[in-house]
Amino acid sequence: KSSISPLRKINSVINSYALARQKEIDALQKNAEFRREFIADISHELKTPIFATQGYIHTLLDGAMDDKQVRMKFLKRAAKSLDSLDNLVQDLLTLNQMESGVIKFVFTDFDLKDVIEEVIEELEHKASKRKVHIDFKYDPERSYLTHADRQKIYRVCQNLIFNAVKYNHDEGQVKVTLKASKSNIQVDIKDDGQGIPPEDLKRIFERFYRVEKSRNKKEGGTGLGLAIVKHILEGHKSKISVSSTVGKGSIFSFSLPLVKPVVLESKEVVQKS
Ligand code: ADP
Repeated sequence: KSSISPLRKINSVINSYALARQKEIDALQKNAEFRREFIADISHELKTPIFATQGYIHTLLDGAMDDKQVRMKFLKRAAKSLDSLDNLVQDLLTLNQMESGVIKFVFTDFDLKDVIEEVIEELEHKASKRKVHIDFKYDPERSYLTHADRQKIYRVCQNLIFNAVKYNHDEGQVKVTLKASKSNIQVDIKDDGQGIPPEDLKRIFERFYRVEKSRNKKEGGTGLGLAIVKHILEGHKSKISVSSTVGKGSIFSFSLPLVKPVVLESKEVVQKS
């Protein structure tokens, strides 16, 4: 009995050591696989605007330059391709900085209603080109003060509202609603566009994932917007949720904390310890 026991002990130590090493190897392999996939994805995405720009410039060099109208057309297209390349690189940098934890969140108090109003103002021009109407519903009597990173929450609202416009049909409706409860503000962004099939719904927050039909759309973006949204909200300990019906539309929702506005008595200074 006494001679088996130490052997068993050694065996179990060896086993647990082997198991731990195997776990490390698995994690390293997964990491290598992730990097390989990531590089393949990036190369694929970068190729599209680079190929397009190359094409326009070569066509110009091959003689299209002589005609002023054709020249303008191709130069404009080349500029547009370079803009989308720039957007892609910007989004990649943002996502990379977020994933590596380099980006710092700067929390302040601000009114969420003001941020959404600014975003809608910025997007109204793009929406009106396709006669998409953006409706914003909130209670004008109350405050929607929150504690968050204003710039990043602006980005979240911008991505979600822009998607609701992009993936809508012409003359469609986008409804943005603010609902305040005791300690939270819920933001709902609803569109009556093409909707997202159930099998795609759980994957749209992955980087570069796009629903197949939208891949060839000229309005298509970088495929990184929702991955960025998810990261920003995680940095606020919040989550994005979505429900969608194909042919009817989608609702994207998230919540942020509601902050009670501090009413200071006249000339009284409140000192926090
Ligand atoms: P993209 O730059 O392609 O818009 P996103 O990460 O913002 O990338 O979105 C990923 C994909 O999710 C989109 O390509 C589109 O297929 C789908 N999607 C996002 N928002 C909506 C929406 N409101 N309605 C329908 N599909 C959407």
